[in-house]
Amino acid sequence: MSEHRVALVTAGASGIGRAIAERLLADGISVHICDINETALHACTNELVGITGSCCDVSDATQVEGLFAEMATHYDRLDILINNAGIAGPTASVEDIAPEDWDRTIAVDLNSAFYVTRLAAPLLKKSGGSIVNMASNAALFGFPLRSPYTAAKWAIIGLTKTWAMELGPDGVNVNALCPGSVNGPRIENVINKDAKERGVSPNEIRDVYQRQSSMRLFVDAEDIAETVRFLCSPAGHSISGQALGIDGHTEGLSNWLG
Ligand code: NAD
Repeated sequence: MSEHRVALVTAGASGIGRAIAERLLADGISVHICDINETALHACTNELVGITGSCCDVSDATQVEGLFAEMATHYDRLDILINNAGIAGPTASVEDIAPEDWDRTIAVDLNSAFYVTRLAAPLLKKSGGSIVNMASNAALFGFPLRSPYTAAKWAIIGLTKTWAMELGPDGVNVNALCPGSVNGPRIENVINKDAKERGVSPNEIRDVYQRQSSMRLFVDAEDIAETVRFLCSPAGHSISGQALGIDGHTEGLSNWLG
């Protein structure tokens, strides 16, 4: 059996997933990432020493089976599962959402967590490991113009509580994180696009967005990664079944994209 703990981070080649992978690696944990974007995956596995990776669309159950077969050629254990994959899906009012866009968002944001966890659970039960599911603070409130995203993320919290009950007796803790908007190119693109459409400055739009949070902030991916590290460490192991906001405290999301 491998000496080091082993983690799987889905959608780990960029964004929050990559920050988590880097944080776990820094703790001496062996990390396997998967990502749908082959270029980003290879860039990540080339840049980070000690990381392994598989190209995989986690919304496809067959590809997820291939992912576990490939992981088994590197590792004989799994201690940490980070169900991080998620897309924003359509930004549109309910009457304007196409069923195929609904289905794709649910597939990536919800079905993927089931496909991965059903194969990870036997390994995690053996190691008494940890699962962290990436939800969103949209899972704590309604989020106008984001129906499928909100539905999937609320369901992720339901699964978190269910899996905490199912796997807890085998020593597995299961939690969900609910970040607010994260600092980085994604939020900057949204801000710039919105500012252009409304004919106002990006700073005005940034201010409106940040006022969603009591602390008037966007979150750093590294802070999310640090929380993951804690929940997957012995010190965080008795915390389970929780949906933890990482958003500078937000009481609700207004129609800010409308
Ligand atoms: P991102 O858009 O930066 O994407 C990260 C990675 O996901 C990319 O490398 C992409 O190729 C990969 N990916 C996309 N679809 C995939 C699929 N089907 N299979 C495998 N890989 C896939 O994402 P992010 O902003 O880092 O978000 C990560 C998670 O955090 C998501 O679940 C997201 O919903 C959640 N979240 C993000 C924010 C935010 O502001 N960024 C806020 C709250 C919650």
